[in-house]
Amino acid sequence: MTAKVDVIVVGAGFGGLYALHRLRQDGYSVKVLEAAESIGGTWYWNRYPGARCDVESMQYSYSFSNEIQQEWKWSELYAAQPEILAYINFVADRLDLKRDVQLNTRVVSARFDETSSTWEVRTEAGEVLVAPYCIMATGCLSIPMVPDFPGLKDFKGPVYRTSDWPHEGVDMTGKRVGLIGTGSSGIQATPILAAQASHLYVFQRTPNYSIPALNRPMTREYERSWKDEYPERRLAARKTRNNTLNMAGSKPGRDVSRDEREAEFERRWTQIGGISFMYAYPDMTSDPEVNAHASEFVRRKIGALVHDPDVAEKLMPSDYGIGGKRICVDTAYFETFNRSNVTLVDIRSDPIERLTATGVKTKSQSFELDVIVMATGFDAMTGALKRIDITGRAGVKLADRWAEGPKTYIGMAVAGFPNMFLITGPQSPSVFTNMVTSVEQHVDWIADCIAHLKTNRRKAIEATAEAEARWVAHSNDLASKTMMPNANSWYVGANIPGKPRIFMPYLGGAAVYQDYIADVARKNYEGFSLA
Ligand code: FAD
Ligand code: NAP
Repeated sequence: MTAKVDVIVVGAGFGGLYALHRLRQDGYSVKVLEAAESIGGTWYWNRYPGARCDVESMQYSYSFSNEIQQEWKWSELYAAQPEILAYINFVADRLDLKRDVQLNTRVVSARFDETSSTWEVRTEAGEVLVAPYCIMATGCLSIPMVPDFPGLKDFKGPVYRTSDWPHEGVDMTGKRVGLIGTGSSGIQATPILAAQASHLYVFQRTPNYSIPALNRPMTREYERSWKDEYPERRLAARKTRNNTLNMAGSKPGRDVSRDEREAEFERRWTQIGGISFMYAYPDMTSDPEVNAHASEFVRRKIGALVHDPDVAEKLMPSDYGIGGKRICVDTAYFETFNRSNVTLVDIRSDPIERLTATGVKTKSQSFELDVIVMATGFDAMTGALKRIDITGRAGVKLADRWAEGPKTYIGMAVAGFPNMFLITGPQSPSVFTNMVTSVEQHVDWIADCIAHLKTNRRKAIEATAEAEARWVAHSNDLASKTMMPNANSWYVGANIPGKPRIFMPYLGGAAVYQDYIADVARKNYEGFSLA
């Protein structure tokens, strides 16, 4: 049987749920299809010990309803995964969203029918849904990447992934644990695994820059200060580069003395904490001298925190500047390497050869393990979209259009794929921002666009190839003016063998981007053709 609705939304994370709410408010019938057995997206899947946000919870939360943001109480500055998931469920229940979310439903294909101007969406179970509009809220970091290590299947113990950690939790007490991967997830999990395991081996290929979170319980005063001024602060946050108020400095780092910079880095490291470190100066990732100074500052901090100089040296990133890879935020990560039950294994100099029945064999050593934890990242930004067989006009496949890397217009639309919208797609600021605010901005823009089509009796909207090409060139140009494309990060797809190397996020800043997309709409959807 074919079900018909006005809008199909794929994914029930922050993005899909807000899309459902906003479009339902606007009077449309909406169906959300979600592969998981419950809502929450990132915060449903990533239940590893230590998982928490690194944008302050007063900000990493929906802003669309002042009532809701006044009602909810966060217990810590940076909430842990269970609390964020509880919050998402609270919002969904409060707005009665769950009745339009179909769980345990993986979308396998989506095809645009040119005659009827509708999308035909198929699920793994063979159901078919048809709607004029399809919104892909499939997430930037929703497809786990596990390297194909030789012998992966030989290992006799359990292998867990941070990205879909067992719901019942895992007791590591007395276990010899091997953790592979030292990105944000691995860095968050390390101190907690170390406290449980009899021995923790951390297999590190590339060291990361990580800043102390300085997480703390939410104080009444801090909460009050936000709740008293929520609307104003949310508005102010939208005028920043990353949709977040994080005390961003406006004076370029190159215009101040080295001593002044040093003092500012120290203040951010010891008193503010977290991602705000990266916002000390606007030229942190574009001016080589400022970037080198900030990178060296963090290396010195690592040197001071880690007692064994050889271990400290291995933990210091040296072949890329700070910000080249997504900055990490931690609680006692580097200090954990002072524990006698923690060993850092440098797999850059001594690569993993294979997994064996009893552990990990590197080129020169063998490690006996009871459990392996993979914190090896995601097929970011394009992974979820490319796994759906998406066919646009004239039978063109998205996977083919993107064979040399993703191409979008303003991160939300693809030429040849009318009436399909992406939430936080490639070439939008997305992963450089507070993503909850960014998904709200995308959803609001899309809802306004659909309203415009309805008012003007148009059936279809499609990005033009010219506008798309211009936007991609602009996005690439912005990235090339920074040092960011140089690092082998997931921003450029370097973590996925064979993935075309293109810097995927838009670096113009969230505020500039917001003005730009508002202008597109104001100019009667400039860069789109309407039919
Ligand atoms: P998601 O939450 O990823 O939801 C997408 C949903 O789509 C998933 O539930 C998935 O199952 C579903 N889906 C995908 N493909 C299909 C399909 N074919 N069929 C059906 N369903 C499908 N961002 C920040 O701004 N601050 C943070 O502190 C922060 N911390 C993070 C911590 C972790 C561990 C991770 C992994 C990411 C973090 N992020 C953070 C990024 C985070 O992904 C976003 O903030 C946000 O949760 C994204 O919401 P979303 O709805 O766009 O996508
Ligand atoms: P990630 O940053 O991509 O880190 C993956 C790690 O696995 C890296 O250390 C990587 O090493 C390693 N790895 C990958 N393939 C490997 C291989 N074949 N052999 C050995 N090591 C390998 O993934 P993540 O830590 O899950 O984080 C992804 C993103 O999610 C973050 O950047 C962030 O945006 C978000 N996140 C945020 C938080 C938060 O604090 N709020 C927490 C978790 C995740 P290389 O670097 O050498 O490739």
